[in-house]
Amino acid sequence: MPTNPAASPPRKLAAGNWKMNGLSAQLAEARALADAFPAPGVGVLLCPPATLLATMAQATAGSAIGLGGQDCHEAEKGAHTGDISAAMLADAGASHVILGHSERRADHGETSEQVAAKLRAAWGAELVGIVCLGETAEERAAGRTLGVVGAQLAGSLAEGATAANTVIAYEPVWAIGSGQTPTAEQIAEVHGFLRAQSPDPAISLLYGGSVNPGNAAAIFAIPGVDGALVGGASLKAVDFGAIVTALQTA
Ligand code: PEP
Repeated sequence: MPTNPAASPPRKLAAGNWKMNGLSAQLAEARALADAFPAPGVGVLLCPPATLLATMAQATAGSAIGLGGQDCHEAEKGAHTGDISAAMLADAGASHVILGHSERRADHGETSEQVAAKLRAAWGAELVGIVCLGETAEERAAGRTLGVVGAQLAGSLAEGATAANTVIAYEPVWAIGSGQTPTAEQIAEVHGFLRAQSPDPAISLLYGGSVNPGNAAAIFAIPGVDGALVGGASLKAVDFGAIVTALQTA
């Protein structure tokens, strides 16, 4: 039974991607965040490892903190050892699921076509899909950024994507976990391009890649940025809380 069901997703969203970090002791950070933001006024989402989802749903019950998975299988159920379905994520308390993260595209060879299939599976379980895309350093240096993200967007968004069921996260691969961020002009250019290509102008468009408490306000001030997908800085409630505060005041 979903404890934190998907409401109509707010356009301003701060989503924390814990990746493969977090044993049960990490739940204290989720609790601290829930206590700090009982009603944040912007969307706040934590995407822990699937093993923590159900207990985190209990830890954040009654708060406005939503939960997301980090991936789902494209099939509804069946013989897929080690995989997790969208319905399982929803059953554990998730309202969202991250799809097509560059680490999954790189580590598991996920294609945009698979991401689109996973997005359809997410919708089937009434999850909002957070579709990630972004260029590598080599692609940017070769002047191919817009071509790459445009192709990823076209391939990864299943037909029927709307602001109610989909969020897009622009995450340059070279900015993830590196401490490097694009310039404001570079982010604005890609977000403007993605907005123009997006099937629904109301879709929330997040930036991700080395967002931290020190640069969040400047990133949220960039035209076209509706929020952030945050990796490392989402593991500590005090850091992620500062990012949420920056989004609230943007
Ligand atoms: C991510 O992996 O989605 C991400 C944005 O990571 P970080 O914030 O650590 O760069």
